Amino acid sequence: MAMQREAGVQDFVLLDQVTIEKFMDNLRKRYQVGSIYTYIGEVCVSMNPYRQMNIYGPETIRKYKGRELFENVPHVFAVADAAYRVLKQRHQDTCILISGESGAGKTEASKIIMKYIAAVTNAQGQNEIERVKNVLIQSNAILETFGNAKTNRNDNSSRFGKYMDIEFDYKADPVGGIITNYLLEKSRVVQQQPGERNFHSFYQLLRGANDNELRQYDLSKETSKYHYLNQGSMDILTEKSDYKGTCNAFKTLGFQADEVQTIWRTIASILHLGNVEFQTIEEELVITNKSHLQSAAKMLQVTEAELLTALTERTIAAGGNVMKKDHNATQAEYGKDALAKAIYDRLFTWIISRINRAILFRGSKSQARFNSVIGVLDIYGFEIFDSNSFEQFCINYCNEKLQQLFIELVLKQEQEEYQREGIEWTNIEYFNNKIICDLVEQPHKGIIAIMDEACLTVGNVTDETLLGAMDKSLSKHPHYTSRQLKPTDKELKHREDFRVTHYAGDVIYNIKGFIEKNKDTLYQDFKRLLRNSKDANLSEMWPEGAQDIKKTTKRPLTAGTLFQRSMADLVATLLKKEPFYVRCIKPNDLKSSTVFDEERVQHQVRYLGLLENVRVRRAGFVHRQRYDKFLLRYKMISQYTWPNFHAGSERDGVRVLIEEKGFAQDVKYGHTKIFIRSPRTLFALEQQRNEM
Ligand code: ATP
Ligand code: MG
Repeated sequence: MAMQREAGVQDFVLLDQVTIEKFMDNLRKRYQVGSIYTYIGEVCVSMNPYRQMNIYGPETIRKYKGRELFENVPHVFAVADAAYRVLKQRHQDTCILISGESGAGKTEASKIIMKYIAAVTNAQGQNEIERVKNVLIQSNAILETFGNAKTNRNDNSSRFGKYMDIEFDYKADPVGGIITNYLLEKSRVVQQQPGERNFHSFYQLLRGANDNELRQYDLSKETSKYHYLNQGSMDILTEKSDYKGTCNAFKTLGFQADEVQTIWRTIASILHLGNVEFQTIEEELVITNKSHLQSAAKMLQVTEAELLTALTERTIAAGGNVMKKDHNATQAEYGKDALAKAIYDRLFTWIISRINRAILFRGSKSQARFNSVIGVLDIYGFEIFDSNSFEQFCINYCNEKLQQLFIELVLKQEQEEYQREGIEWTNIEYFNNKIICDLVEQPHKGIIAIMDEACLTVGNVTDETLLGAMDKSLSKHPHYTSRQLKPTDKELKHREDFRVTHYAGDVIYNIKGFIEKNKDTLYQDFKRLLRNSKDANLSEMWPEGAQDIKKTTKRPLTAGTLFQRSMADLVATLLKKEPFYVRCIKPNDLKSSTVFDEERVQHQVRYLGLLENVRVRRAGFVHRQRYDKFLLRYKMISQYTWPNFHAGSERDGVRVLIEEKGFAQDVKYGHTKIFIRSPRTLFALEQQRNEM
């Protein structure tokens, strides 16, 4: 490893003053010499270097393996190791929560962590464990192909949230895993912003598949021919090798040939659907691009007539009667896009279920499946665009929940430990965002509940009426306002605008489309169509297509409520685990490896609550260690404990050592552990140890 030149302080707790200026100085200094990681206690702040760093190789891994955080220069490896040691030594579940905005480096960090864990486990080289590790790592390639896209912020932006549990056996070797995915941004399938692209999968297929394969899918290489691909950016980003890579990953994960066929055929079907056009000619709905209709039907393994009917009519069940109603061109167009989005969304979830099947521990079910887990969360960061819609609303709500968790866990953990050890402690104040979580999720009164009510109301409920209902019940909420409530506010430009003051900043949402996106309806005709596909894999993705149309079915849950529930589950899962944090920061919006954009960085530091984090950490104790372990590490620096121990109990031994070295003011003695307030003391101890 090239020697890393360290600048500034390695832990923000060591700053002589906790001000934003000092914080920024330290971050900048370190970034400029390539020290991209800095701690706040056990939290790792990570700056995206936007260049290959020579700090992830086997030699570096060896340096961090089994080591305490403070023994090496800051690195995300150290956090991974800390989480792993807790699991190994205490058989306690842990999780690593990675946060930061789009392009800050979350997904890269999650992959670095997984590679580290893979590298330090399976000392005996057991085949099955090697297989699991391989599958865990290869699964990333598939997830990125189908879940990532080029956006204006990140060429490889994750458009879904991912939580992965890695399961370990009693020897702390990985034996399995399970991935949970959250809310894929499916609107991207049919529409992209200028400069952005559709999901990578489409381009991989068109550019990577050979002529023979393309013929099979009725596709041509030209991406510009496909409506779903020619709205945003056309640049060629995807290499041929990516398609091969994805196909290889499918193999490693044990996907069957027919499953892989289904996947690429489904991708092709979406491209064909996108090119199907509707026109009303003499009050008749006609399809102008029949060849694509034909190909789409072929790819979905349904008949052309079936697909045509599903696209142009709708079956309605009313009072026990079943009727057909023709679409007009707008309705047909809308239905087609909804179908394309739904097909992709289902495909994505199905692929993940197949990956999970490959990594689930294969041992007998009657045995304890695994001993403990490390969860890795890589979920979309806070988003503020020029125009924000339902998707941003969900994503930002998710970030509120995670911030809430951060507050609860960081404080809770600290306080519980102090109490357990009999250490005095007074609470530190900081902004609690629970009020914003409530604004969104409170039963009956929160935004999600109000949206659901609007969606359930029969009759002509528009987005505007929804906004009116929100204004009415939320007018007094300090974190909510709207154009209607505050007409003089210049930032609220449109009649449909409302603002939520998130912990990370103000976001103005446009209510347009909220009802439709929350309802997320797909005509039952489509579900039946796909259920009846001759492709068994595709059919499997649409279980509810088998329902009898005449049976009055319960209304499906809305997208908002489903998302809220999945967040509640996620939080419940995380609360059971000991958390470790990686807070990612994006240095600039240019993807440049040299520019440190003061304003952008400072904004992130503020909303990630990093200064508050430092303050809490400083008010408390940065380090705690069991007396026996402490002595094991430092006994050689004191005449009272080395070479012979003259000090009574271990606790007494630690006390005389600390007093001899003049650190008495900086420590407290708990029942089983010593608590050290300042990292300075810790570093000084380390230095003396190294000088022995
Ligand atoms: P999104 O929320 O959009 O998914 P993200 O936080 O997951 O964003 P990444 O995709 O991890 O962001 O990172 C964006 C890009 O930054 C990467 O494609 C890579 O080029 C660069 N990058 C991030 N972390 C590192 C790193 N540790 N070393 C080198 N390059 C990095
Ligand atoms: Mg990502």
